[in-house]
Amino acid sequence: MDKPTKMEIIRTPATIQQRALALKREGRVIGFVPTMGFLHAGHVSLMRLARTRCDVLAVSIFVNPTQFGPNEDLEAYPRDFAQDEILCAQAGVDLLFYPESGTMYAADASVWVDEASLSTVLCGASRIGHFRGVCTVVAKLFNLVLPDLAVFGEKDAQQLRIIERMVRDLNFPVEILRGAIVREADGLAMSSRNKYLASLQRKDALCLRRSLDCAVHLFATGERDAGVLRQAMVEIIGQIPSARIDYIEIVDDMTLASVERIERTALVALAVKIGSTRLIDNDVLRA
Ligand code: AMP
Repeated sequence: MDKPTKMEIIRTPATIQQRALALKREGRVIGFVPTMGFLHAGHVSLMRLARTRCDVLAVSIFVNPTQFGPNEDLEAYPRDFAQDEILCAQAGVDLLFYPESGTMYAADASVWVDEASLSTVLCGASRIGHFRGVCTVVAKLFNLVLPDLAVFGEKDAQQLRIIERMVRDLNFPVEILRGAIVREADGLAMSSRNKYLASLQRKDALCLRRSLDCAVHLFATGERDAGVLRQAMVEIIGQIPSARIDYIEIVDDMTLASVERIERTALVALAVKIGSTRLIDNDVLRA
């Protein structure tokens, strides 16, 4: 079987797995970018990175219900498959896995992948069960797409570290690559959820990047007390009436444990609601 010459859209788990098995038998290197669709330049940058390392580029578009809590935005999550298809074709995607609804989980599915340490903090503390849903679907997608390498974005820094841990602890034969955060010109991290922001909220949302810039600046000028950085960030976000802090944390980059003094590389991460839209962003403080 030849490498796909034109993008193939595959709609069922059995078909993508058969296709991937055939490609593996031929010795093809499969690169994979899992997404929930409504694609933007951040997703495309991950595809470009994967493309440099593989023969066959696979992308999935699946709004995974098991990673949404009961009061979250599963139904409202933005979708535009026609536009996504164009972006994928332009990015040189070979296999686009877009499972038909209801084909990914058996009605009585009862096996889960549960990471029990890194998942308990940051987003995991306020989104109970979220990372269990993420790990489970990524494990399933790895078993279907059989990638040699997969790219995840630093935008979801906690998710990326949890996936790396899952791959290590469950011995998945998949190399995980990290893709840098892609931002709008004014600094807002690209996200499918930015679509929810009304125009004033869109301006307010810049307080996330501003607060990170402040932390990065304080750190660069020698401040090592995480409490001082955190407080400065709280004050910046506090100036925006529409903003409500879910968390602002400075954590060890590897363990995600809270740090008081920054002596090793740390992650400064925050989740802030602008109106009803929950946004996340982060930066790395390299000690
Ligand atoms: P999502 O479709 O939001 O589930 O994201 C799919 C992948 O794209 C994840 O690995 C995200 O971390 C990554 N991603 C989302 N937004 C960005 C961004 N602005 N820059 C880089 N990667 C991103």
